[in-house]
Amino acid sequence: MTTSPLPQAPPNPAGRAGARVSPEEGLRLYRDGDLLDLGQRAQSVRFEKNPGLRVTYVLDTNPNYTNVCVTDCSFCAFYRKPGAPGAYTLSVEEVLKKIEGAADKGVTTVLLQGGHNPDLPLDYYLSLVRETRKRFPGITPHFFSASEVQTMARVSGLSVREVVRRLRDAGQVSLPGGGAEILSERARRRISPKKGGPESWLEAHRAAHEAGMRSTATMMYGHVEGPEDVIEHLENIRRLQDETGGFTAFIPWSFKPANTPLDKKVPHGSSANRYLRMIAFSRIYLDNFPHIQASWFSEGKKTGQVALHFGADDFGGTIFEENVHRAADHVLKTSEDEIRALIRDAGFVPAQRTTLYEVIRTG
Ligand code: SF4
Repeated sequence: MTTSPLPQAPPNPAGRAGARVSPEEGLRLYRDGDLLDLGQRAQSVRFEKNPGLRVTYVLDTNPNYTNVCVTDCSFCAFYRKPGAPGAYTLSVEEVLKKIEGAADKGVTTVLLQGGHNPDLPLDYYLSLVRETRKRFPGITPHFFSASEVQTMARVSGLSVREVVRRLRDAGQVSLPGGGAEILSERARRRISPKKGGPESWLEAHRAAHEAGMRSTATMMYGHVEGPEDVIEHLENIRRLQDETGGFTAFIPWSFKPANTPLDKKVPHGSSANRYLRMIAFSRIYLDNFPHIQASWFSEGKKTGQVALHFGADDFGGTIFEENVHRAADHVLKTSEDEIRALIRDAGFVPAQRTTLYEVIRTG
C-alpha cells in the first residue's frame, strides 16, 4: 500500500473520536487527507465505539424474487425490461423454497431484493414477509430496498409510511440500504434518473425507523460522482441518523462496470486504495453510526481484511447466493470457516451476529 501523494490535511482534532467533522472539513479530509493518517483516526473511533478486537459477521444470503424492472439505471447489469428474454418473477412459494434452503444452511439473515416490477401487488410482498416469519422463525427478513418500497407505494396507491407499517405488521424488522447509490441529486440524475432524488431513499428509511424498524445505509461509489457528492451522501445519512437513530451500519462498495451501460464511461472500476479511504473517512464522518462494514465480497478478501485496520468492525456475511454483482461478472465465494479464518488472520476475534448486530457467539 502507498500513501497518498496529496498534501496532508492539517492536524484536525475534529476528525478524532468525540468531535463532529463539518461538511467543509470533511471535503478537505476526504480529498487530501493522508490515507494512513485517516486510517489511524478511524481506528481510534472504531475502538471507542466498539472496544476490543471483536469483528462481527453474519450468515446470510441475497436471493432475488424478480429481475423485471422499469427503472433503467445505467449502472445495472441485473435487470430485464418486462417481457424481455431472461426476465423472471418467482412465485411466493418459489421464493420460500430458496429461503428454506438457506435456513437449512443455518442462515439467519435473508436480504431479498428485486427489480421494480409494476405487476406485483402489495400482497405479494406482505406474503413473503409473513410466510418467512411463520415458516422460518430463525430467519430475519431483511427485505426490500427503499426504491422497492417506493414501487409498492406507487402500485398500491398507499403512502410510503403506510406500506412500511404493513411490512412491519407482517413481521419485518429491518430494511436493507440498497438503492442509495449516491444520495446527491446531481449524481442520481446521471445514473438513475427514474429512481427519484435522495429524498425518496431517505423517506423510506425515515418511515422504517419511525415504525420501529432498523435499517442499513449503503453507498455505491466509483462511477460519476465527485468528492462533493460523497460528502452530500454521508451528510444526508448522518442527519437522518441524528433524527432517528435507526441505522445499524454503513456499507460502502465500489461500482462494478462489466455489462452495464456505464461500462464505457467507467471501464476500470475503483481501487483498493480508494475503498480504504472510503471506509476510514466514513468511520470518522459518521460519528453517530455504530458499525462500519468491510465488504470481502465486493472488494476482495484481502482488501476486506485490511479494511478492518481502517475503521471497519464488521466483515459482512457469507452471501451464499448473489446475482446482482454476478450479472456484472463479479463472483467471489466464501464459507463461514473461511470468514472466521480471515478475521483471525487479520488479528481480530470473529463473532457471529444477527441482522440487528446482536452477537450470537464469539471466538
Ligand atoms: S438497480 Fe434496481 S432499480 Fe435500477 S435498474 Fe437495476 S434492478 Fe432496476
